[in-house]
Order: sequence, then structure tokens, then C-alpha cells
Amino acid sequence: MNKVMFKKNDTVVVISGKDKGKTGKILKVFPEKNKVVVEKVNFIKEFIRRDQSKNVQGGVMEKEAPIHVLLLYCTECGRGIRIRKKRLEDGSKIRTCNICESTID
Ligand SMILES: [Zn+2]
Repeated sequence: MNKVMFKKNDTVVVISGKDKGKTGKILKVFPEKNKVVVEKVNFIKEFIRRDQSKNVQGGVMEKEAPIHVLLLYCTECGRGIRIRKKRLEDGSKIRTCNICESTID
């Protein structure tokens, strides 16, 4: 697979795993791992050790773990779509929906 075409704040659709079908906003992108962190998706439990010197309470914290690339949510289509890259006449690149061809950014 090529470089991640997703950006922070994109709304995406999860296409596999226990959160399949969920949509959420990208909080963070890890291009080198081809993964993204999506808001409220793929929660994992993290055990934190109590540490009084740092005033840490300890216990179990839930946080989002990075997940593999998904589909971008197209508001025009109302579903997950694939991103198509398009080069404009002035040389700049934009992302478009592969179905309705609306411009994403
Ligand atoms: Zn579309």
C-alpha cells in the first residue's frame, strides 16, 4: 500500500475489526506505520502504575489505539469511499471521492 492519504480531522469509516462500520474523526496519523488514531474507535485498556512522586493515581485508563487504514467518509455519498488523487492544472494535488468525484480538500 502507498502512503496514507488521510489527514488529521478527516472523518473515516472503519472497515474491519470490532469497530467495523463506525465513523469517527482522525486524531493522529502515523504515515510510517500506515495507521491512524480515530476518535472513540479501538479503545484499549492501559494499566497505569500508581506513582506518588508524579501524583499519578494509577489504575486502568482507556485510550484509542492506532488502527489500520480505513475508508474516508464522503458526506455527498453518505458512505465510506476511496480517495482518488487528482492533479490540478496548476500542479497542486487534491483528494477527491472515487464515486461522486467531489473534492475533499
Ligand atoms: Zn462521494
